[in-house]
Amino acid sequence: MKIITRCPVCSSQGYSAVFKAAQYPYFTIPVKRQDKAKILKRHGLDQLHGELQPVVCTRCLHIYLRQCAPVKTLAELYRDYYSYPSALEGSFSPERDQAFLRIFRDKISRTLSKKQNRVLEIGCYDGYVLYHLKKMGFSVTGCDPSQGANIGKRFGLDIKKQFFKVDDFFKRGLKYDVVIFRHLLEHMPKPVDFLKTLKKVLMPTGIFVFEVPGVESYLKNGSTGIFSFQHVQYFSRASIARLVENADLQLLSCIESAENLIITCLPGKLRPAYADNHIADLCRSFYAHLETKKNRLNKIVNEVSGQGMIIWGAGGFSANVLELYGVPANRIKYIVDSDSKKWGMEYLLHCIPITSPKALKQNDHGCLMICSMYTNEIIRQLKHLRYDKPVIRLFPDIKLLNKDGYKIQRN
Ligand SMILES: [Zn+2]
Repeated sequence: MKIITRCPVCSSQGYSAVFKAAQYPYFTIPVKRQDKAKILKRHGLDQLHGELQPVVCTRCLHIYLRQCAPVKTLAELYRDYYSYPSALEGSFSPERDQAFLRIFRDKISRTLSKKQNRVLEIGCYDGYVLYHLKKMGFSVTGCDPSQGANIGKRFGLDIKKQFFKVDDFFKRGLKYDVVIFRHLLEHMPKPVDFLKTLKKVLMPTGIFVFEVPGVESYLKNGSTGIFSFQHVQYFSRASIARLVENADLQLLSCIESAENLIITCLPGKLRPAYADNHIADLCRSFYAHLETKKNRLNKIVNEVSGQGMIIWGAGGFSANVLELYGVPANRIKYIVDSDSKKWGMEYLLHCIPITSPKALKQNDHGCLMICSMYTNEIIRQLKHLRYDKPVIRLFPDIKLLNKDGYKIQRN
């Protein structure tokens, strides 16, 4: 594992730990059993997990991973064993993209002149956002190395199927009025350098618009869902202000959208007014908050899982809970998921079978734990299945629900 010795935002060496998880998997998505055997043979189990250690910079309060997973292994696993659904093909309802488009239309596009029309999106996947910006009258270009680029092309979009290299664009004299990159910067080891060189493809009066997950709401709630080896940076309003300043940019706006931050900035120096923030306090209280949640969850699990437990949800959420909440894995009989593609798969670090929700009808367990953000949807399905054992929900908070208490929560 690579040790990061300086803050990726301000280069300071001072840090303190937010929390530590000794053995966290690099890849938190289940895979087919034969693929798991292949992966274990190729890498060895020891090369597939490491210490997850987010730390907070004592100078600029940016949170980052002190140790990074091997980039090659991570890239390989995501390339070969993870498939992204396409919003353009209608595989899911892209709430995050729609929220971004609303903010772009209502707030960001108003700061642009009519002539500022050329948009580039880096890491655009299928180009869902570009497709809608094109409809709004923008001239759009995308860049993405994945299969998504082919989907976008079928929808008439100009998407270059390649890893983004700024010089490929610069050499051809390509410059844009708006450069968008969403959920990209938190994966980058050197975000300041990335922003600095990206100016090569921005018109002098152009703007950057980027979106990152904001760490603050997770810290406040003692939630661990944002932390994984995929994310090496954890931005807050405070660290965004520093990042932008250190990349010789000026911050125009930093808009909160659900748990994400949407930032607009442009070239030029302007000393920002640092957001008054409580990141240091939040980091200090986060650990205690997490311990309280763990204790609460384990108390409930002990009460109701006498005959074993079933988890609903075979995604990253469950992997996170299995590693960070101290739930005894040997109590978990199986994991159910409504996505049939996941049936028969396993997580890399566990041998818990993943199967259909129909398995809930077997009278062989004591309770069910919902490990998903889609709690309400799953409760609807449980009612439909006439499920009558105790249910533990984890989102939006940890709660034990009885059959009569499956009231649909309105968020
Ligand atoms: Zn720093």
